Amino acid sequence: LSSQSASHIQLWQEKVRGGFAALPIVFASAHGHTVTDVDGKKYIDMITQFAVLNFGHGHPKIVEAVVEQTRKLSLVNTSFINPLYAKLADRITKKFGYDSIAAMLSGSEAVDSAIKISRKWAYVKKGIPADEALILTTDRCYHGINLTVMPLSNRMAENFGKHLPNVGPFSPIDGRLIRYGSSEDLEEVLEQCGTKVAAFLVEPIQGYAGTRIPPDGYLRRVQDICQKHNVLVICDEIQTGFGRTGRDLAYQHELGVKPDLVLLGKGLTGGVTPLSLVMGKKHVMDILAPGEVANTYAASPPACAAALAVLDILEEDQISARAQRLGRIMSNAIQEAQLPHLLEHRGKGRGLFQTLVIDESADGLVTARRIAALCAVRGVLVGNGSNRVRLSPPLTISETALLKAVNVIASAFRDVGA
Ligand code: PMP
Repeated sequence: LSSQSASHIQLWQEKVRGGFAALPIVFASAHGHTVTDVDGKKYIDMITQFAVLNFGHGHPKIVEAVVEQTRKLSLVNTSFINPLYAKLADRITKKFGYDSIAAMLSGSEAVDSAIKISRKWAYVKKGIPADEALILTTDRCYHGINLTVMPLSNRMAENFGKHLPNVGPFSPIDGRLIRYGSSEDLEEVLEQCGTKVAAFLVEPIQGYAGTRIPPDGYLRRVQDICQKHNVLVICDEIQTGFGRTGRDLAYQHELGVKPDLVLLGKGLTGGVTPLSLVMGKKHVMDILAPGEVANTYAASPPACAAALAVLDILEEDQISARAQRLGRIMSNAIQEAQLPHLLEHRGKGRGLFQTLVIDESADGLVTARRIAALCAVRGVLVGNGSNRVRLSPPLTISETALLKAVNVIASAFRDVGA
């Protein structure tokens, strides 16, 4: 490490709490698919802050839209009328066939608001007291880190305990986990206590769990079961949205699926400024009274301008089709490289949302973390978590850079145990 990097890292370690620096790289600037560190070393970004920078770092159209809007009008609190918020609401609901939106800042807040909305809906429509209405999730899901949403994800529930009662991946009948991808597990729970359930919250493809794709027809079956029991389906597209998986939204991989609420964040503004949304059907969204999900900075004019620019880019550059095409190129190149220590390659056919699961059993030295470190030394940033290497490059990356990165990743797999 250079002394430049070392001093930043030391400060970070001394003064920052709760963060998690997977690799000792100090970001200085980034453009497109290239990140530059404080020593001037360049990296191909194959992780994009976990599927946020779908259009690369600092996409000029998004940056310009934000700068121009900031100069003109930078903040309209949700208690006043913000024309850009209305324009975004109109455009995005028409695009996806929904009725209205409510804006927040982070993905976790969108999840939190969706729980609030669902509980009020359950009280009004099903007569369940709001604090008793159950919100169900599945094993290994990730829906954020706020106090209210933490227990939805079983890892967080294990670490921090049950902060909010009646939400989470555990069956209210016997405490077993509701398995992701198993509509049978969900059906069993709803058959027994559907009258107490407000909503089922689900990722269309699990992200942090490492690109877990559910069986074909899962979301449609979930939708049918939930409809039968008058339970809302909330689809968390925070990580999968905006072309990432080869569709504008990942639930669109299945025909005939239309969740009651859709949660958007991350790629919604291309990583330039925070914004998250709950988008939904009228019969649910109209439950909200004015002020019930208000938030000072939510849907600020620059954030709305960024989201409008994202929708332009998504459409004009046919980003989802591009993600599909590049996703195929990446999977084929990985397959051809015949990576040693590879247990499973997930996410084929799901755009640039792929995960390489490593067989750590054979050799204690082969870990995802070591592979990620070796990739970084060789100029490629990948994500890593437990025995998985995650790949989610910008959807705008050039084919040449993509193949170059795959070569580096392959060399790291080959050399890591050596
Ligand atoms: N839902 C999903 C599927 C996520 O991947 C994340 C975080 N990446 C969140 C919710 C929470 O979003 P945020 O970190 O913006 O609060």
